[in-house]
Amino acid sequence: MLLSENEALKNVKGILLIVITTIITFLLWYFAVSSSALIPLDQARHLVAGLALNGFLLNFMLATRNKTLEKWFNGLDKLYIYHKYIAIVTLGLLLVHAFLSDALKTTDSVRTALGGLAMFMLVVLIGITLFDKKLPYEKWRTTHRLMLVLYVISLVHVYISSRIPLSRFTALSVWVGASAVVSLVSAIYIVFFYQRRHFKFKGAVTGLSKLNQDVLEWQITLDKPLPFAQGQFAFVKVFQKELDDAPHPFTISGGEGNTILFTTKISGDFTASLYRSLELQTRVAIDGPYGFLSFDNGKPKQLWVAGGIGVTPFIAYLREDHPDREIDFYYSYRGPEAGVYKELISAYQSKHSAFHVHFIDTSAMPPLSFEGYTLTDDTDVFMCGPAKMIQGYAQYFRRNNHSANISYEAFRLR
Ligand SMILES: Cc1cc2nc3c(=O)[nH]c(=O)nc-3n(C[C@H](O)[C@H](O)[C@H](O)COP(=O)(O)OP(=O)(O)OC[C@H]3O[C@@H](n4cnc5c(N)ncnc54)[C@H](O)[C@@H]3O)c2cc1C
Repeated sequence: MLLSENEALKNVKGILLIVITTIITFLLWYFAVSSSALIPLDQARHLVAGLALNGFLLNFMLATRNKTLEKWFNGLDKLYIYHKYIAIVTLGLLLVHAFLSDALKTTDSVRTALGGLAMFMLVVLIGITLFDKKLPYEKWRTTHRLMLVLYVISLVHVYISSRIPLSRFTALSVWVGASAVVSLVSAIYIVFFYQRRHFKFKGAVTGLSKLNQDVLEWQITLDKPLPFAQGQFAFVKVFQKELDDAPHPFTISGGEGNTILFTTKISGDFTASLYRSLELQTRVAIDGPYGFLSFDNGKPKQLWVAGGIGVTPFIAYLREDHPDREIDFYYSYRGPEAGVYKELISAYQSKHSAFHVHFIDTSAMPPLSFEGYTLTDDTDVFMCGPAKMIQGYAQYFRRNNHSANISYEAFRLR
């Protein structure tokens, strides 16, 4: 993942969290094994296991959707990218650990069996979570929750198998113990409490409008105002018989006071059921807001790029009147019907002389390309849409301007 200097700066606290915990883990295990009577292969085996435990710690913490951690990683979508790479590295470390254990021919059957069981579960679970993109999201999430069971087995294995005593009071045992507590609390919170505790904003559907054959705008009136900034998103649970009540992330496409709007496009079972059967007065619960697509805090000159339903965060901004700022807005969609909110965008343009919109209907025009476009240092880029499209443009801008300030939401959290 290549980042420009400006983007790397926004993630710096998150990266430091990973680096510092890894260094502490490495040094504590390194000094403990170096002063032990273990042979070098066994020392390496312990060191690798220690680093894998740190991988679990980081990933359980990141999965809590804690607001401070979200800020440190500059958004949940970026945080989940680190989460994914940490999972891959942790899996790699555990495979090395298993390989070293095998080479050392560790004989104790109970200890080895626990390690083997944890290893088997890990390969299956991480394999599913990382590589089975076709698995429905809810089933994917259930397999993810089993990580808690796997972690408990791994932890028991560590405590009973480690040849470095972890029950004595040492810097290492305190670190391993504290990491285990934080990991377990985080994991238990995610599995058992997140859905009950985090959805503090409750309300009911009070408006429905079908914008075309697959896009629905729905209004919610909340019991108390949700303090959101234009460009942010929230997780929504919808309580209606025909709809599953698992939380889904949607951008807030407008609203004020107690009212908020979502605009959703059919992309699978849930969004299709919403479009077909969402009813007025259906109760909803909301967790949020999240996200850092903050147009207001951006430079006066901005480049906006939206792909399809990725127009929603921009619409939240364009519904309100703002002081004139130089904004070039490229809105790409496929087919004239798919370009929702064109009238609203054009109306904003007619009132703001520095705002320029470019509608790109790819059913009639070549795909949007920025080849030859010079991104100047005084321009902030905001993009939202399909991950592949956004990441492609982001790479192009970064190559052409190393200090490019790019913010984007790729509508993907796994
Ligand atoms: C930050 C963010 C903002 C978004 N804003 C909008 C928006 O304004 N309008 C809009 O139409 N769509 C938006 N989406 C996409 C929307 O969340 C998915 O299209 C929707 O959840 C799909 O559910 P489904 O059952 O209809 O489709 P599925 O076929 O089940 O899912 C399609 C894809 O959506 C993702 N997804 C599904 N369920 C979830 C979930 N519970 N949590 C996280 N991701 C999930 C998965 O990547 C999955 O592969 C946003 C996504 C993100 C991450």
